[in-house]
Amino acid sequence: MNRYYAAIAGRANHRCEYCQAPELIFNFPFEVEHIIPLSRQGENDEANLALACRSCNLRKGTRISGIVPASNTEVSFFHPRQDK
Ligand SMILES: [Zn+2]
Repeated sequence: MNRYYAAIAGRANHRCEYCQAPELIFNFPFEVEHIIPLSRQGENDEANLALACRSCNLRKGTRISGIVPASNTEVSFFHPRQDK
């Protein structure tokens, strides 16, 4: 298990910080992921770590933005420390 899990999961109240799903209903621990991936110069510290369910973590991957098909514009993904 990720060494930051206890601190990050506690801070997130054991909910996915992207979709807000409660960890309890999945019956296994959520993942600690990098909001800004290390491959994009993100830091490996608690400020850049978030609790994510498997689905959100897989969809996000190492990306930090996506394309809105209707407008073909790039938008940043939700940032749990900066966005509400
Ligand atoms: Zn999620």
